[in-house]
Amino acid sequence: METEWKTYQWRGGRMMRKNEVIEGEVFECAFCKGSGFLTGAKGIKCPVCRGEGIVSTKAPAVLCAFCNGSGKAYPRTNITCPACFGKGVMSVSTKDIETCPTCKGRGRKAGSSLPCLTCRGKGVVSK
Ligand SMILES: [Zn+2]
Ligand SMILES: [Zn+2]
Ligand SMILES: [Zn+2]
Repeated sequence: METEWKTYQWRGGRMMRKNEVIEGEVFECAFCKGSGFLTGAKGIKCPVCRGEGIVSTKAPAVLCAFCNGSGKAYPRTNITCPACFGKGVMSVSTKDIETCPTCKGRGRKAGSSLPCLTCRGKGVVSK
């Protein structure tokens, strides 16, 4: 079956950067890197994409600043990012965005493991 989704190629030519608007609505699932299965847990379906390997979000979107687009709360764990819920991308209401003044684009509350309250982990806010 031919899919008409505009799938953004994560490993394609252009690297996605934080605090930048991404075009497209369907992305490779960050949590399982598109495999559909949990990393290091054979046969267990990825809870984020339910085994599909792809996730969708409303455009425009940005790379999740909290997890750097990894979809994980901490590296090398199977804990979903509390900001993007494992998708690695987050929808923004407008393309007119600027770096979050509270967290300086990190998406993280200073000295805390929680997402920034101003941008909710996106690292950006609407202008
Ligand atoms: Zn997945
Ligand atoms: Zn995230
Ligand atoms: Zn912020």
